[in-house]
Amino acid sequence: MQLRIMGCSGGEADGERLTGLLVNGTVAIDAGSITQALTVDEQIRIRHIFISHSHLDHICTLPFFTKNLFGHIEDPVVIHALPETLDVLRRHLFNDELWPDFSVIPSPDKPIIRYTEIEPEKVYEVEGLAITPIRVNHLVPCVGYKVDDGKSAFIFTSDTAETDRIYEIANATKHLKYFITEASFPNEQAWLAEASKHLTPNKLGEELKKLAADVPVGIYHLTPGDRPVMLPQLKAIPDKRIRLLEQNAVLEF
Ligand SMILES: [Zn+2]
Ligand SMILES: [Zn+2]
Repeated sequence: MQLRIMGCSGGEADGERLTGLLVNGTVAIDAGSITQALTVDEQIRIRHIFISHSHLDHICTLPFFTKNLFGHIEDPVVIHALPETLDVLRRHLFNDELWPDFSVIPSPDKPIIRYTEIEPEKVYEVEGLAITPIRVNHLVPCVGYKVDDGKSAFIFTSDTAETDRIYEIANATKHLKYFITEASFPNEQAWLAEASKHLTPNKLGEELKKLAADVPVGIYHLTPGDRPVMLPQLKAIPDKRIRLLEQNAVLEF
C-alpha cells in the first residue's frame, strides 16, 4: 500500500492544519489539501474520498477539486461520510451560494460528485481496499478510518480527544503497519484541548498506552504557531514509536 501525506501540519512552511491522506493514488481520506498537494492529473485519478468530519481543515479543498475535475471525468467521485457530515456539505458548502452544487452538475445523473452515507464499523470495499470508519470523540460527529489491503493496514484517528474503540480495533488488527493520530495544543492549553476535543502531548502519551502494536505512530494537526513549544513536549513523551508526519511524505508498507 502506498500512503501519501497530502496535508498534516507537519512542516515549518505549512501554515495551517490542513489534513489529507492519499492511498494508492485513487482514494483520499479527508480533503483539506488535495489541490495544494496534487497536480491536476493526480487529482483526476481520485475516485473516492472518505471524509472524517465537517471541519474546514478536513474539507476545504473539495470545492476547488470539484472544479478541477469538471470536463475531465466520466464517473462521479464518491464522497463517503457520516450523514451529519454530508448534511453540512449540502447545506453550507455545495449550496450554490458558497459554491455550485456539483452533486447535480453537469447533470443530476452524471454529476462530478456523488454523496454516500457511511455507518461506523461497516466495511467499505473500494479500489482493492477495505475501509472501516470508527467513531471517535470530537466536537462534531467524527470517524477515524482503518484502511486495509489484506496484507497491510493503517489507522488514522482523525481529530479526537480521549477515545477507546479505535484502539481496540487497532489492537485486533494483526498486520497493522502504521497508526496516525493527533496532537493539537501544547500542554499549557489542556483546557482548550478539552473544550475543543483535541489532544495535548501529555494526553497523547496517555492515549498511546492503549496501543499494543510496535508500529510507527505519526502525529499530525499541530497548531502551527505552537510548534516550537509542542516539539519538545512531544519528544518528552516516553514512547519510541512517535514521529512527526511530514508534508508530502510517501510511505510504503
Ligand atoms: Zn476537527
Ligand atoms: Zn482538524
